[in-house]
Amino acid sequence: MPATEAASPHAFASSAALELARRVLAIEADAVRALIDRLDERFLAAVSLILGRRGRVVVSGIGKSGHVARKVASTLASTGTPAYFVHPAEASHGDLGMIQAEDIFIGVNFLDYSGYPDCRPEFIEAFERVANLATQAGVEGRSRFRVHAPLITLTKAQIVARAYELGVDLSLTWSCYEPEADGRACGLCDSCRLRKKGFAEAHLADPVPTAR
Ligand SMILES: [Zn+2]
Repeated sequence: MPATEAASPHAFASSAALELARRVLAIEADAVRALIDRLDERFLAAVSLILGRRGRVVVSGIGKSGHVARKVASTLASTGTPAYFVHPAEASHGDLGMIQAEDIFIGVNFLDYSGYPDCRPEFIEAFERVANLATQAGVEGRSRFRVHAPLITLTKAQIVARAYELGVDLSLTWSCYEPEADGRACGLCDSCRLRKKGFAEAHLADPVPTAR
């Protein structure tokens, strides 16, 4: 006797699945289209930087941004710009020696430690020690790796104020973990609430709109 649709563990509503898939593609397509208006002199600056380089382009990232970074490196390499990918975790086990740079900058902040223990000063200090112990250049004293985390002990309000002082375009920044279908920040998740508090305490307006 054939199994009924309801009895199958893989049963799903075909029309709902198609509707969802179409909606996902439409959202992704809109997001790509929205990038057209964001191409400006900053893109030209990046192109100029890459064309004017002496060595190879190093692309790095972890988690999903690591997958994207690996793809970017491979596309650059196959289209004539020598590039390679460095995994940030493997960098601390010797791969930093590939980059031939001594100063590493990271924008982590200790207030995010509950979800990200690697945002704490203890981790950054330990990483720096390991980087110097795990690379030939560090052990031989030819290089001294330093990890700079200029935002690590600031409050969110201080970070917002500093960004305004430096003229950073905060409309290009993103904090929300649970955005609405139309792309707006939810305004309710932990990250949105921390961001709102930071802007409020800095007495500055957030250029990124939220749904609530
Ligand atoms: Zn949110």
